[in-house]
Amino acid sequence: MATARHDHWIDGRTHPPRGGARLPTLDPTTRAPGDEIAAGTAPDVADAVEAARRAWRDWADRSPAERGAVLHRIAEAVEADAPELSRLERACTGKTEAQLRLEIGMSAEYFRYYAGVVRAAGQGRVIEQGAGSHTYTRYEPYGVVGVITPWNLPLNQACRALAPALAMGNAVVVKPSEFTSTSTLRLARLATEAGLPDGVLNVVTGTGPQAGEALAAHPHVRRLAFTGSVATGRYLAGVAGGRLIPLTLELGGKSPLLIFADADLERASAAAVTALAANSGQVCSATARVLIEESVHDEVVDRIVTAAEKLRPGVDYGPLITEAQYDKVLGFLAGAGTPATGGGPLPGPGLYVRPTVYARVDPASRLAREEIFGPVLVTTAFTGEAQALRLADDTEYGLTAAVWTGDLTRGLRLAERIEAGQVSVNGGPLTVETPFGGYRRSGHGREKGLTALHEYAQLKTVSVGLR
Ligand code: ADP
Repeated sequence: MATARHDHWIDGRTHPPRGGARLPTLDPTTRAPGDEIAAGTAPDVADAVEAARRAWRDWADRSPAERGAVLHRIAEAVEADAPELSRLERACTGKTEAQLRLEIGMSAEYFRYYAGVVRAAGQGRVIEQGAGSHTYTRYEPYGVVGVITPWNLPLNQACRALAPALAMGNAVVVKPSEFTSTSTLRLARLATEAGLPDGVLNVVTGTGPQAGEALAAHPHVRRLAFTGSVATGRYLAGVAGGRLIPLTLELGGKSPLLIFADADLERASAAAVTALAANSGQVCSATARVLIEESVHDEVVDRIVTAAEKLRPGVDYGPLITEAQYDKVLGFLAGAGTPATGGGPLPGPGLYVRPTVYARVDPASRLAREEIFGPVLVTTAFTGEAQALRLADDTEYGLTAAVWTGDLTRGLRLAERIEAGQVSVNGGPLTVETPFGGYRRSGHGREKGLTALHEYAQLKTVSVGLR
Protein backbone atom coordinates (compact mmCIF):
# COMPACT_ATOMS: atom_id res chain seq x y z
CA MET A 1 0.00 0.00 0.00
CA ALA A 2 1.19 3.51 -0.82
CA THR A 3 2.54 5.36 2.16
CA ALA A 4 0.87 8.53 3.42
CA ARG A 5 2.22 11.77 4.86
CA HIS A 6 0.96 13.04 8.19
CA ASP A 7 1.21 16.70 9.22
CA HIS A 8 1.07 18.10 12.73
CA TRP A 9 -2.37 18.85 14.21
CA ILE A 10 -2.42 22.41 15.51
CA ASP A 11 -5.36 24.68 16.30
CA GLY A 12 -7.94 22.25 14.96
CA ARG A 13 -6.32 21.59 11.58
CA THR A 14 -3.37 19.95 9.84
CA HIS A 15 -0.19 21.98 9.89
CA PRO A 16 2.77 21.08 7.64
CA PRO A 17 6.19 21.22 9.28
CA ARG A 18 7.70 24.69 9.07
CA GLY A 19 11.11 23.22 8.38
CA GLY A 20 9.65 21.09 5.56
CA ALA A 21 11.41 17.90 6.71
CA ARG A 22 9.79 14.50 7.16
CA LEU A 23 10.64 11.41 9.16
CA PRO A 24 10.10 7.84 7.99
CA THR A 25 8.30 5.17 10.00
CA LEU A 26 8.79 1.43 9.78
CA ASP A 27 6.50 -1.59 9.83
CA PRO A 28 8.27 -3.82 12.37
CA THR A 29 6.55 -6.97 11.09
CA THR A 30 8.32 -6.66 7.71
CA ARG A 31 10.80 -3.80 8.12
CA ALA A 32 9.10 -2.16 5.12
CA PRO A 33 8.95 1.64 5.21
CA GLY A 34 5.64 3.05 6.42
CA ASP A 35 3.99 6.47 6.47
CA GLU A 36 5.96 9.68 6.86
CA ILE A 37 5.42 12.13 9.67
CA ALA A 38 6.33 15.78 10.03
CA ALA A 39 9.76 16.40 11.53
CA GLY A 40 8.69 19.08 13.99
CA THR A 41 11.07 21.75 15.22
CA ALA A 42 10.88 24.63 17.68
CA PRO A 43 8.77 26.90 15.39
CA ASP A 44 6.08 24.17 15.08
CA VAL A 45 6.12 23.73 18.85
CA ALA A 46 5.76 27.50 19.27
CA ASP A 47 2.71 27.50 16.95
CA ALA A 48 1.11 24.70 18.93
CA VAL A 49 1.80 26.26 22.32
CA GLU A 50 0.46 29.59 21.09
CA ALA A 51 -2.75 27.91 19.89
CA ALA A 52 -3.10 26.17 23.26
CA ARG A 53 -2.44 29.41 25.12
CA ARG A 54 -5.22 31.16 23.21
CA ALA A 55 -7.65 28.28 23.72
CA TRP A 56 -7.36 27.12 27.31
CA ARG A 57 -9.20 29.89 29.14
CA ASP A 58 -12.49 29.51 27.25
CA TRP A 59 -12.27 25.77 27.67
CA ALA A 60 -11.58 26.10 31.39
CA ASP A 61 -14.51 28.52 31.76
CA ARG A 62 -16.96 25.86 30.64
CA SER A 63 -18.68 23.89 33.37
CA PRO A 64 -17.34 20.44 34.22
CA ALA A 65 -20.58 19.03 32.80
CA GLU A 66 -19.96 20.75 29.46
CA ARG A 67 -16.36 19.60 29.30
CA GLY A 68 -17.46 16.12 30.34
CA ALA A 69 -20.00 16.02 27.52
CA VAL A 70 -17.23 16.68 24.97
CA LEU A 71 -15.04 13.97 26.54
CA HIS A 72 -17.93 11.51 26.27
CA ARG A 73 -18.19 12.31 22.58
CA ILE A 74 -14.44 11.76 22.17
CA ALA A 75 -14.79 8.34 23.86
CA GLU A 76 -17.55 7.43 21.43
CA ALA A 77 -15.52 8.68 18.48
CA VAL A 78 -12.51 6.58 19.54
CA GLU A 79 -14.69 3.48 19.76
CA ALA A 80 -16.39 4.16 16.44
CA ASP A 81 -13.02 4.76 14.78
CA ALA A 82 -11.35 1.66 16.27
CA PRO A 83 -10.76 0.04 12.84
CA GLU A 84 -8.78 3.03 11.53
CA LEU A 85 -6.97 3.64 14.83
CA SER A 86 -6.01 -0.05 14.87
CA ARG A 87 -4.78 0.12 11.29
CA LEU A 88 -2.58 3.12 12.03
CA GLU A 89 -1.27 1.67 15.28
CA ARG A 90 -0.63 -1.73 13.75
CA ALA A 91 1.27 -0.24 10.81
CA CYS A 92 4.05 1.10 13.00
CA THR A 93 3.96 -1.30 15.97
CA GLY A 94 2.90 -4.69 14.57
CA LYS A 95 0.68 -5.20 17.63
CA THR A 96 -1.63 -8.18 17.75
CA GLU A 97 -5.40 -7.78 17.30
CA ALA A 98 -6.06 -8.66 20.95
CA GLN A 99 -3.53 -6.12 22.19
CA LEU A 100 -4.98 -3.40 19.93
CA ARG A 101 -8.51 -4.10 21.12
CA LEU A 102 -7.37 -3.80 24.71
CA GLU A 103 -5.46 -0.55 24.18
CA ILE A 104 -8.10 1.19 22.10
CA GLY A 105 -10.80 0.15 24.54
CA MET A 106 -8.75 1.59 27.41
CA SER A 107 -8.11 4.76 25.41
CA ALA A 108 -11.85 5.42 25.11
CA GLU A 109 -12.34 4.45 28.74
CA TYR A 110 -10.01 7.20 29.99
CA PHE A 111 -12.22 9.86 28.40
CA ARG A 112 -15.40 8.28 29.72
CA TYR A 113 -14.02 7.96 33.24
CA TYR A 114 -12.70 11.53 33.53
CA ALA A 115 -15.84 12.92 31.86
CA GLY A 116 -17.77 11.77 34.93
CA VAL A 117 -15.07 12.14 37.55
CA VAL A 118 -14.48 15.83 36.87
CA ARG A 119 -18.13 16.59 37.66
CA ALA A 120 -17.89 14.91 41.05
CA ALA A 121 -14.31 15.64 42.06
CA GLY A 122 -13.18 18.66 40.06
CA GLN A 123 -14.24 21.14 42.70
CA GLY A 124 -12.62 22.34 45.91
CA ARG A 125 -14.24 22.62 49.32
CA VAL A 126 -15.32 25.14 51.86
CA ILE A 127 -12.98 25.59 54.82
CA GLU A 128 -14.73 26.47 58.06
CA GLN A 129 -12.92 29.10 60.17
CA GLY A 130 -15.87 30.24 62.25
CA ALA A 131 -18.09 33.27 61.67
CA GLY A 132 -16.49 36.24 59.95
CA SER A 133 -15.06 34.63 56.84
CA HIS A 134 -15.95 32.50 53.88
CA THR A 135 -13.00 30.49 52.66
CA TYR A 136 -12.91 27.92 49.89
CA THR A 137 -10.53 26.12 47.56
CA ARG A 138 -10.71 25.75 43.79
CA TYR A 139 -8.95 23.35 41.46
CA GLU A 140 -7.70 25.42 38.55
CA PRO A 141 -5.97 24.20 35.39
CA TYR A 142 -2.34 25.00 34.69
CA GLY A 143 -3.15 26.40 31.25
CA VAL A 144 -0.87 24.72 28.72
CA VAL A 145 0.31 21.19 29.54
CA GLY A 146 3.02 19.40 27.53
CA VAL A 147 2.72 15.61 27.19
CA ILE A 148 5.57 13.48 25.80
CA THR A 149 4.73 9.85 25.09
CA PRO A 150 6.69 6.70 24.14
CA TRP A 151 6.24 4.10 21.41
CA ASN A 152 5.11 1.06 23.41
CA LEU A 153 1.42 1.94 23.98
CA PRO A 154 1.13 5.07 21.86
CA LEU A 155 -2.57 5.92 21.82
CA ASN A 156 -3.28 4.49 25.24
CA GLN A 157 -0.60 6.49 26.98
CA ALA A 158 -1.54 9.69 25.22
CA CYS A 159 -5.16 9.26 26.36
CA ARG A 160 -4.10 8.38 29.90
CA ALA A 161 -2.55 11.83 30.28
CA LEU A 162 -4.87 13.78 28.00
CA ALA A 163 -8.20 12.78 29.47
CA PRO A 164 -7.61 14.12 33.01
CA ALA A 165 -5.68 17.15 31.71
CA LEU A 166 -8.50 18.13 29.34
CA ALA A 167 -11.21 17.30 31.87
CA MET A 168 -9.60 19.75 34.29
CA GLY A 169 -9.70 22.56 31.70
CA ASN A 170 -6.12 22.55 30.42
CA ALA A 171 -5.08 22.77 26.79
CA VAL A 172 -2.48 20.21 25.75
CA VAL A 173 0.38 19.89 23.30
CA VAL A 174 1.38 16.26 22.78
CA LYS A 175 4.71 15.15 21.34
CA PRO A 176 4.28 11.45 20.57
CA SER A 177 7.18 9.13 19.86
CA GLU A 178 8.58 9.70 16.37
CA PHE A 179 8.16 5.96 15.73
CA THR A 180 4.44 5.84 16.52
CA SER A 181 2.77 9.22 16.01
CA THR A 182 -0.08 8.51 13.65
CA SER A 183 -2.72 7.24 16.10
CA THR A 184 -2.26 10.33 18.30
CA LEU A 185 -2.66 12.58 15.25
CA ARG A 186 -5.84 10.72 14.37
CA LEU A 187 -7.11 11.10 17.93
CA ALA A 188 -6.66 14.88 17.76
CA ARG A 189 -8.68 15.02 14.56
CA LEU A 190 -11.40 12.87 16.10
CA ALA A 191 -11.46 15.09 19.20
CA THR A 192 -11.87 18.21 17.06
CA GLU A 193 -14.69 16.58 15.11
CA ALA A 194 -16.29 15.55 18.41
CA GLY A 195 -16.49 19.19 19.46
CA LEU A 196 -13.24 19.88 21.31
CA PRO A 197 -12.50 23.55 20.59
CA ASP A 198 -9.61 24.34 18.26
CA GLY A 199 -6.29 24.68 20.03
CA VAL A 200 -7.29 22.65 23.11
CA LEU A 201 -5.49 19.56 21.82
CA ASN A 202 -2.47 19.90 19.54
CA VAL A 203 -0.04 17.27 18.33
CA VAL A 204 3.47 18.10 17.18
CA THR A 205 5.45 15.16 15.83
CA GLY A 206 9.22 14.84 15.57
CA THR A 207 12.23 13.62 17.47
CA GLY A 208 12.95 14.12 21.15
CA PRO A 209 15.89 16.49 20.65
CA GLN A 210 14.12 18.58 17.99
CA ALA A 211 10.48 18.70 19.10
CA GLY A 212 10.43 17.26 22.64
CA GLU A 213 13.13 19.53 24.04
CA ALA A 214 11.48 22.60 22.51
CA LEU A 215 8.17 21.65 24.13
CA ALA A 216 9.68 21.07 27.57
CA ALA A 217 11.59 24.35 27.37
CA HIS A 218 8.74 26.52 26.08
CA PRO A 219 8.03 29.28 28.62
CA HIS A 220 4.25 28.98 28.24
CA VAL A 221 4.18 25.26 29.05
CA ARG A 222 3.27 25.18 32.73
CA ARG A 223 3.31 21.47 33.42
CA LEU A 224 4.80 18.35 31.83
CA ALA A 225 3.84 14.70 31.77
CA PHE A 226 6.42 12.25 30.48
CA THR A 227 6.37 8.49 29.92
CA GLY A 228 9.57 6.92 28.65
CA SER A 229 13.12 6.02 29.51
CA VAL A 230 14.99 6.84 32.69
CA ALA A 231 17.62 8.78 30.72
CA THR A 232 15.09 11.09 29.07
CA GLY A 233 13.13 11.36 32.33
CA ARG A 234 16.26 12.52 34.10
CA TYR A 235 16.93 15.10 31.39
CA LEU A 236 13.36 16.41 31.51
CA ALA A 237 13.38 16.53 35.31
CA GLY A 238 16.40 18.83 34.96
CA VAL A 239 14.57 21.06 32.49
CA ALA A 240 11.45 21.16 34.65
CA GLY A 241 13.60 21.81 37.73
CA GLY A 242 15.31 24.70 36.01
CA ARG A 243 11.96 26.14 34.97
CA LEU A 244 10.34 25.30 38.33
CA ILE A 245 7.39 23.55 36.75
CA PRO A 246 5.91 20.25 37.92
CA LEU A 247 6.20 17.08 35.90
CA THR A 248 4.93 13.54 36.10
CA LEU A 249 7.54 10.91 35.33
CA GLU A 250 6.42 7.42 34.41
CA LEU A 251 9.65 5.55 33.73
CA GLY A 252 10.79 1.99 33.63
CA GLY A 253 10.57 -1.01 35.88
CA LYS A 254 12.00 -4.41 36.69
CA SER A 255 8.93 -5.59 38.48
CA PRO A 256 8.76 -8.83 40.47
CA LEU A 257 6.16 -11.57 40.26
CA LEU A 258 6.30 -13.70 43.41
CA ILE A 259 4.94 -17.23 43.37
CA PHE A 260 4.66 -19.13 46.65
CA ALA A 261 4.28 -22.91 46.80
CA ASP A 262 0.74 -22.58 48.18
CA ALA A 263 -0.43 -20.46 45.20
CA ASP A 264 -2.74 -21.58 42.43
CA LEU A 265 0.24 -22.53 40.28
CA GLU A 266 -1.74 -22.74 37.07
CA ARG A 267 -3.02 -19.17 37.32
CA ALA A 268 0.29 -17.83 38.64
CA SER A 269 2.21 -19.42 35.75
CA ALA A 270 -0.34 -18.05 33.29
CA ALA A 271 0.23 -14.57 34.77
CA ALA A 272 3.95 -14.95 34.11
CA VAL A 273 3.28 -15.99 30.52
CA THR A 274 1.03 -12.95 30.07
CA ALA A 275 3.87 -10.73 31.28
CA LEU A 276 6.09 -12.38 28.67
CA ALA A 277 3.70 -12.14 25.74
CA ALA A 278 1.67 -8.96 26.30
CA ASN A 279 3.04 -6.40 23.85
CA SER A 280 6.11 -8.68 23.69
CA GLY A 281 7.18 -7.48 27.13
CA GLN A 282 7.32 -3.85 25.98
CA VAL A 283 5.30 -2.69 28.95
CA CYS A 284 6.89 -0.63 31.71
CA SER A 285 4.84 -2.48 34.34
CA ALA A 286 5.69 -5.98 33.01
CA THR A 287 6.50 -8.36 35.86
CA ALA A 288 9.56 -9.76 34.14
CA ARG A 289 11.39 -10.94 37.27
CA VAL A 290 9.70 -14.13 38.44
CA LEU A 291 10.60 -15.14 42.01
CA ILE A 292 9.49 -18.67 42.79
CA GLU A 293 9.55 -20.62 46.06
CA GLU A 294 12.29 -23.24 45.82
CA SER A 295 10.02 -26.26 46.38
CA VAL A 296 7.95 -25.47 43.25
CA HIS A 297 10.52 -23.55 41.21
CA ASP A 298 11.26 -26.18 38.59
CA GLU A 299 7.61 -27.18 38.22
CA VAL A 300 6.56 -23.57 37.64
CA VAL A 301 9.38 -22.98 35.15
CA ASP A 302 8.23 -26.10 33.24
CA ARG A 303 4.70 -24.73 33.08
CA ILE A 304 5.88 -21.33 31.87
CA VAL A 305 8.23 -22.84 29.26
CA THR A 306 5.54 -25.20 27.93
CA ALA A 307 3.10 -22.30 27.53
CA ALA A 308 5.75 -19.97 26.09
CA GLU A 309 6.61 -22.48 23.39
CA LYS A 310 2.98 -22.48 22.24
CA LEU A 311 2.86 -18.70 21.73
CA ARG A 312 2.30 -17.81 18.07
CA PRO A 313 4.05 -14.78 16.54
CA GLY A 314 1.58 -12.27 15.16
CA VAL A 315 -1.28 -13.83 17.12
CA ASP A 316 -0.14 -14.11 20.73
CA TYR A 317 2.81 -11.74 20.59
CA GLY A 318 4.06 -9.06 18.25
CA PRO A 319 7.47 -7.84 17.14
CA LEU A 320 9.76 -5.46 18.93
CA ILE A 321 8.55 -2.04 17.83
CA THR A 322 11.81 -0.28 16.95
CA GLU A 323 15.06 -1.43 15.40
CA ALA A 324 16.97 0.03 18.34
CA GLN A 325 14.88 -1.95 20.82
CA TYR A 326 15.31 -5.14 18.79
CA ASP A 327 19.09 -4.70 18.82
CA LYS A 328 19.04 -3.91 22.53
CA VAL A 329 17.05 -7.03 23.43
CA LEU A 330 19.23 -9.26 21.24
CA GLY A 331 22.26 -7.68 22.90
CA PHE A 332 20.96 -8.81 26.31
CA LEU A 333 20.41 -12.33 25.02
CA ALA A 334 23.80 -12.60 23.31
CA GLY A 335 25.82 -12.70 26.49
CA ALA A 336 23.30 -14.37 28.75
CA GLY A 337 24.07 -18.09 28.72
CA THR A 338 21.60 -20.85 27.93
CA PRO A 339 17.90 -20.05 28.27
CA ALA A 340 15.21 -22.54 29.32
CA THR A 341 13.48 -21.58 26.08
CA GLY A 342 13.84 -19.00 23.31
CA GLY A 343 16.98 -16.91 23.30
CA GLY A 344 17.16 -15.29 19.88
CA PRO A 345 15.34 -13.81 16.91
CA LEU A 346 12.73 -15.52 14.80
CA PRO A 347 13.90 -16.08 11.22
CA GLY A 348 12.45 -13.62 8.69
CA PRO A 349 12.53 -9.88 8.14
CA GLY A 350 10.30 -8.86 11.10
CA LEU A 351 11.65 -7.65 14.44
CA TYR A 352 10.42 -10.73 16.30
CA VAL A 353 12.26 -12.16 19.28
CA ARG A 354 11.38 -15.63 20.55
CA PRO A 355 9.64 -15.65 23.92
CA THR A 356 12.58 -16.32 26.22
CA VAL A 357 12.92 -17.62 29.77
CA TYR A 358 16.14 -17.74 31.79
CA ALA A 359 15.86 -19.91 34.90
CA ARG A 360 17.75 -19.56 38.19
CA VAL A 361 19.32 -16.27 37.23
CA ASP A 362 21.78 -14.67 39.62
CA PRO A 363 19.97 -11.66 41.17
CA ALA A 364 23.18 -9.64 40.78
CA SER A 365 23.38 -10.23 37.02
CA ARG A 366 22.52 -7.68 34.35
CA LEU A 367 19.66 -9.88 33.19
CA ALA A 368 18.05 -9.70 36.63
CA ARG A 369 18.71 -6.00 37.25
CA GLU A 370 18.18 -4.10 34.00
CA GLU A 371 14.93 -3.45 32.23
CA ILE A 372 15.03 -5.51 29.01
CA PHE A 373 11.68 -4.38 27.55
CA GLY A 374 11.22 -7.45 25.42
CA PRO A 375 9.70 -10.95 25.64
CA VAL A 376 12.16 -12.13 28.26
CA LEU A 377 11.49 -13.49 31.77
CA VAL A 378 14.10 -14.34 34.36
CA THR A 379 13.40 -16.60 37.32
CA THR A 380 15.10 -16.84 40.71
CA ALA A 381 14.28 -19.30 43.50
CA PHE A 382 13.67 -18.16 47.09
CA THR A 383 13.14 -19.84 50.43
CA GLY A 384 10.67 -18.21 52.82
CA GLU A 385 8.82 -14.92 52.90
CA ALA A 386 11.71 -12.80 54.19
CA GLN A 387 13.96 -13.78 51.30
CA ALA A 388 11.09 -13.27 48.84
CA LEU A 389 10.65 -9.71 50.08
CA ARG A 390 14.38 -9.03 49.98
CA LEU A 391 14.62 -10.22 46.37
CA ALA A 392 11.45 -8.36 45.34
CA ASP A 393 12.91 -5.08 46.56
CA ASP A 394 16.43 -5.81 45.30
CA THR A 395 16.01 -3.37 42.40
CA GLU A 396 16.45 0.32 41.77
CA TYR A 397 12.93 0.43 40.32
CA GLY A 398 9.53 0.26 42.00
CA LEU A 399 6.69 0.30 39.52
CA THR A 400 4.55 -2.79 40.13
CA ALA A 401 4.66 -6.15 41.86
CA ALA A 402 2.46 -9.22 41.72
CA VAL A 403 2.13 -11.74 44.54
CA TRP A 404 0.59 -15.20 44.18
CA THR A 405 -0.10 -17.11 47.37
CA GLY A 406 -2.81 -19.23 48.96
CA ASP A 407 -2.25 -17.34 52.22
CA LEU A 408 -4.00 -14.03 51.78
CA THR A 409 -2.63 -12.65 55.03
CA ARG A 410 0.86 -13.17 53.69
CA GLY A 411 -0.19 -11.62 50.39
CA LEU A 412 -1.38 -8.49 52.15
CA ARG A 413 1.67 -8.40 54.42
CA LEU A 414 3.90 -8.37 51.35
CA ALA A 415 1.69 -5.89 49.52
CA GLU A 416 2.21 -3.43 52.35
CA ARG A 417 5.98 -3.94 52.43
CA ILE A 418 7.04 -4.14 48.78
CA GLU A 419 8.36 -0.82 47.50
CA ALA A 420 6.25 -0.36 44.39
CA GLY A 421 3.50 1.98 43.26
CA GLN A 422 1.01 -0.81 42.74
CA VAL A 423 0.88 -4.38 44.00
CA SER A 424 -1.61 -6.97 42.82
CA VAL A 425 -2.32 -10.07 44.89
CA ASN A 426 -3.66 -13.18 43.15
CA GLY A 427 -4.39 -11.36 39.92
CA GLY A 428 -6.17 -8.31 41.35
CA PRO A 429 -6.93 -6.00 38.42
CA LEU A 430 -5.30 -2.64 37.72
CA THR A 431 -7.73 -0.49 35.74
CA VAL A 432 -8.50 3.11 34.76
CA GLU A 433 -9.70 3.68 38.33
CA THR A 434 -6.46 2.57 40.00
CA PRO A 435 -3.70 5.18 40.43
CA PHE A 436 -0.54 4.23 38.57
CA GLY A 437 3.02 5.40 39.08
CA GLY A 438 6.41 4.57 40.45
CA TYR A 439 8.44 4.41 43.60
CA ARG A 440 12.18 5.08 43.40
CA ARG A 441 13.60 5.42 39.88
CA SER A 442 10.36 4.29 38.27
CA GLY A 443 9.28 7.92 38.58
CA HIS A 444 6.92 10.10 40.53
CA GLY A 445 3.46 11.54 40.21
CA ARG A 446 0.45 9.39 39.42
CA GLU A 447 -1.53 8.68 36.29
CA LYS A 448 -5.05 7.18 36.25
CA GLY A 449 -7.68 7.22 38.96
CA LEU A 450 -9.06 10.19 40.80
CA THR A 451 -5.54 11.22 41.79
CA ALA A 452 -4.53 12.05 38.22
CA LEU A 453 -7.34 14.56 37.85
CA HIS A 454 -5.78 16.63 40.62
CA GLU A 455 -2.29 16.20 39.18
CA TYR A 456 -3.41 18.37 36.27
CA ALA A 457 -4.79 21.10 38.52
CA GLN A 458 -3.38 23.64 40.92
CA LEU A 459 -5.21 24.38 44.12
CA LYS A 460 -6.20 27.95 44.89
CA THR A 461 -7.52 29.20 48.21
CA VAL A 462 -9.96 32.13 48.24
CA SER A 463 -10.78 33.73 51.56
CA VAL A 464 -13.36 36.46 52.02
CA GLY A 465 -13.68 38.58 55.16
CA LEU A 466 -17.34 38.94 56.10
CA ARG A 467 -17.01 41.65 58.76
P1 ADP B 1 13.04 5.07 24.33
O1 ADP B 1 14.50 5.09 24.63
O2 ADP B 1 12.33 3.91 24.89
O3 ADP B 1 12.68 5.35 22.89
P2 ADP B 1 12.70 7.78 25.15
O4 ADP B 1 12.66 8.23 26.54
O5 ADP B 1 13.88 8.12 24.32
O6 ADP B 1 12.42 6.24 25.18
O7 ADP B 1 11.41 8.30 24.36
C1 ADP B 1 10.17 8.60 24.94
C2 ADP B 1 9.68 9.92 24.38
O8 ADP B 1 10.57 10.95 24.77
C3 ADP B 1 9.61 9.98 22.85
O9 ADP B 1 8.49 10.77 22.47
C4 ADP B 1 10.90 10.68 22.50
O10 ADP B 1 10.87 11.35 21.25
C5 ADP B 1 10.99 11.68 23.64
N1 ADP B 1 12.35 12.19 23.88
C6 ADP B 1 13.52 11.56 23.72
N2 ADP B 1 14.55 12.37 24.06
C7 ADP B 1 14.00 13.55 24.44
C8 ADP B 1 14.54 14.79 24.91
N3 ADP B 1 15.84 14.99 25.02
N4 ADP B 1 13.66 15.78 25.23
C9 ADP B 1 12.33 15.60 25.12
N5 ADP B 1 11.78 14.45 24.68
C10 ADP B 1 12.59 13.43 24.35
